[in-house]
Amino acid sequence: MSENNENQSGFDTICLHGGYTPDTEQTYGIGQGAPRGVPIYRTTPFVFRDTDHAAKLFSLQELGNIYTRLMNPTTHVLESRYAQLEGGHPLSGLAVASGTSAVFYSIINLARKGDNIVSSGALYGGTYTQFNNILPDMGIEVRFVDAEDPLSFAAAADDKTRAFFCESCSNPALQICDLEAISASAHEIGIPLIVDSTFSTPYLCRPFDFGADIVVSSLTKWVSGHGTVLGGIIVDKGTFNWGGGNHPMYDEADDSYGGLRWGHDLPEALAPLAYKLRALTVPLRNLGACISPDNSWAVMQGIETLSLRMERHCENSLKVAEHLYNHSKVAWVRYPGLSTDPQYGKAQKYLKGKGGAMVVFGIRTADPTSAGKQFIDSLKLFSHVANVGDARSLAIHPATTTHSQMNSDAQIAAGVMPEMVRLSIGIETCDDIIADLDQALARVGTEEVYAPPKQVQKEEIKKFEQVQEEEKEKKLVDPNELWA
Ligand code: PLP
Repeated sequence: MSENNENQSGFDTICLHGGYTPDTEQTYGIGQGAPRGVPIYRTTPFVFRDTDHAAKLFSLQELGNIYTRLMNPTTHVLESRYAQLEGGHPLSGLAVASGTSAVFYSIINLARKGDNIVSSGALYGGTYTQFNNILPDMGIEVRFVDAEDPLSFAAAADDKTRAFFCESCSNPALQICDLEAISASAHEIGIPLIVDSTFSTPYLCRPFDFGADIVVSSLTKWVSGHGTVLGGIIVDKGTFNWGGGNHPMYDEADDSYGGLRWGHDLPEALAPLAYKLRALTVPLRNLGACISPDNSWAVMQGIETLSLRMERHCENSLKVAEHLYNHSKVAWVRYPGLSTDPQYGKAQKYLKGKGGAMVVFGIRTADPTSAGKQFIDSLKLFSHVANVGDARSLAIHPATTTHSQMNSDAQIAAGVMPEMVRLSIGIETCDDIIADLDQALARVGTEEVYAPPKQVQKEEIKKFEQVQEEEKEKKLVDPNELWA
């Protein structure tokens, strides 16, 4: 396969062609005639030319295929295509088994025992647990801050801080981060900003355009788009100076890779790939959460229609949010594309003026948990699943599912209100989506009302912000309390 990284500036063109040009000079089967679709290379190892070739590949003197846990030609097309969509260095993408492993590897590739990172507290539940429990057990402290205040990141940092981390649009609070401000303060102290852009996808937001240095994303969601595959990716913009003295893992000889100093010893052409090459040869090679070539292929099928789907997701989501906003049984709605939403201004800047594909809301009732249950159990078109980003519409109650490992204080700090219903709006006919929501809402009991519908939006948001403010000072979670 040959690459066609040149002359490709259009996003949609990259979605279809990035990283792969059929090679008509090659022989396939009975002769020439190159595959138009990206071939799936279902092989574990790759055959070396000779022992010199093998040695060169292992010492990074030459780039090439060794073993599918590390690299694979099908996965390489995905990595190249996705890195181009993000506007990163075309060779700096590293696909892995899931978004979860992408987040994990992105951190342990720059921080180790004794180090810390500063992260927004508004995170996907799995990432929160990884940061709040698993990384600290490994000796990496995570300091949670309120990303609504971009200055809080620098205030929490010290000389052991190796990165700032946030979600471009958080799951499920739909908080949009001020990437420009957060990356500027990261750079002031010589560290990178890592952004999980799962909820925005490169179609709505390219964090590198706003100063971010590393993007991680779950490919499981809108990027693949059909709820049929798991994958994740890390992309380095390729411009951060890893040998600048703030990352000992890049200044010191790395025993796990032949004593190489990643920030200093790579040949000039490979220097911009220091972070990616370390992620490939240290965490991925030795911890092994690789993506399969079949999954890489399936993700690429989704990417081909990313723009079309995201447009429809956003269009439907806005209609749903507007409908719910005016619904008598809805207490509050959060959707960054609604002009009444506190994140609306940032959506204009960071989401191309759109609102994304998620809508969250609270049912107007005295008993939000049972009303939420009744609502979700009544849905017919929506699927009740622990996923987002499917072409089909999905619903869940985060407080009792995706974010249930957090105690209630931590949930509220992360923007997970007890009554919150999370909707991932699909690309079905919008009237059908709305009709399903209406019939489910009609089944929810009406007798007790806890807030007047017309002002609730503002009142709920104020309440939410007040609680967040109070929680800021507290230690966020003791997950053991949950199981006590
Ligand atoms: N990041 C965000 C923002 C998510 O919402 C999720 C999953 O929902 C993940 C990462 C983890 O992705 P995966 O399910 O591919 O491991």
